[in-house]
Amino acid sequence: MALELWRRTARLLLHHRGAAVSSRRTCVGKCPNTRLRVLLDMDGVLADFEGGFLKKYRQRYPNEPFISLEERRGFWVSTQYGELRADLCDKAISIWESKNFFMELEPLPGSVEAVKEMAKMKNTDVFICTSPIKHYAHCPYEKYAWVERHLGPDFLEKVILTRDKTIVSGDILVDDKPDILGVEPNPSWEHVLFTACHNKHLPVSTTQRRLLSWADDWRDILEGKR
Ligand SMILES: [Mg+2]
Repeated sequence: MALELWRRTARLLLHHRGAAVSSRRTCVGKCPNTRLRVLLDMDGVLADFEGGFLKKYRQRYPNEPFISLEERRGFWVSTQYGELRADLCDKAISIWESKNFFMELEPLPGSVEAVKEMAKMKNTDVFICTSPIKHYAHCPYEKYAWVERHLGPDFLEKVILTRDKTIVSGDILVDDKPDILGVEPNPSWEHVLFTACHNKHLPVSTTQRRLLSWADDWRDILEGKR
C-alpha cells in the first residue's frame, strides 16, 4: 500500500515538473495565458541612426561628398561611403565612434510613445535588443544613457546588448537589418523588418513582414502573434 502511494506521488511530481519546465514555445498552436516577448532593435528602430549620422558627418566633413538618405542603399553606411571614395569609409566610421554620437541620436517619430504603450500592454514583455559597436569607448554607456533619458530608468532592466541576436529568445524581433544571422540557425523570433532609408527598396518578401514606421499598425502585428 505504502509502495503504491509512493509510486503515485512520484508520478504526480514528475508530471508537474515536466509541465513546469516545458516552455511556451513547445505549445502546438496558440498557447493560452502566455506572455508575448517583443525584442526591439535600437538603431534605426527607436533611435535615428541614419539621420544622426548624416548630420554629424556633414558638420565634420563639410567639403566631402555625402550620401543623402534618399540615396542610401545597403545596411552598412561605411560600405556605401567607401564605394563613393575609398577614404570616406574610415571618415564615416569616425562619426559613430565619436563621443556623444549614440547619446545624441533623436528618437524616431513615435518610437518612444509606442514602446511605452507596448510595455504597458497586458501579457507583454518588451526588451531592447541592440548590438553595440566593437569600438566600446562610448557606445555601450551611451546606449544605456539614451534608454534612461527617453524611456526612463525602469527600462534599463530591459536592455540586452548582444552582437548575436539569434541566441536571444523572443516571439518578435523588430529590426531594420534585413539579414540577422548568428550561431543559431533557427531563432525563436519572427523578424519583422522595420522600414528604413537603406532597406525600403528591397523587394517585398513573401515570408518577412514589415513595419513601415511607428505610425504603422504595430499593435496588429503583436496581436497576430498571441
Ligand atoms: Mg538597427
